Parts: sequence; structure tokens; C-alpha cells
Amino acid sequence: MSAILIPCRDCGKQVPSSQTREGRCLDCQVRRAVADLRDEHARLWRKRERYARQNANVEQIGRQIARVEDRMSERIKELVANDREAVAYLRQELEAARGQRYTIKGV
Ligand SMILES: [Zn+2]
Repeated sequence: MSAILIPCRDCGKQVPSSQTREGRCLDCQVRRAVADLRDEHARLWRKRERYARQNANVEQIGRQIARVEDRMSERIKELVANDREAVAYLRQELEAARGQRYTIKGV
């Protein structure tokens, strides 16, 4: 069976139709699946920085951040069967979360 390439409806990248879901490539599926968690991650991270500046206890926030990362990881694994690819996606999303944090902070 030959792969039919179709453009992803979000990013426009040409991808094999077998890898798409609702017309979206895997990158965009992952991005959408974790979007809310990424925002939550950025929010908690800013909170932790704020608390740290006030010398408050940040241990609990650290645990919350770890939990959000676990949930991101779970959602990615639901979409990405290959373990190594799933880890790469998670790393990418966490980097994006960090980038988002700095963007907001810099405003
Ligand atoms: Zn896409």
C-alpha cells in the first residue's frame, strides 16, 4: 500500500495520510493534546520563581510541576507508540513550555 501524502490542516506539512488524525500530523496532535498542560506548567513555573524570590517554600510547587510533566508524558504516550519518539516529543513540549515562560516573563 503506497502512502498518500496530505497537507496537515494546522501546519500545512505534507504527511502520510495513515499518520494523520482528523487531518492533523502527529506533531500537531501532540501539540494540541498537551496545550492546556503546557500553560499550566508555565503558570506553575512562574509561581515557583515568584515564591523563590520571597524565600517561600517551593517544594510543593516543584511536586505540582512534576505531576504536570507526568501528565504531559502520559498524553504523549497515548498518541506516540514509539517510546523513544514519545520522549523526544515530551522534551520538545517541555522546551516549548520553558520558551513560553520566558516570553511571558519578558513582557
Ligand atoms: Zn501539523
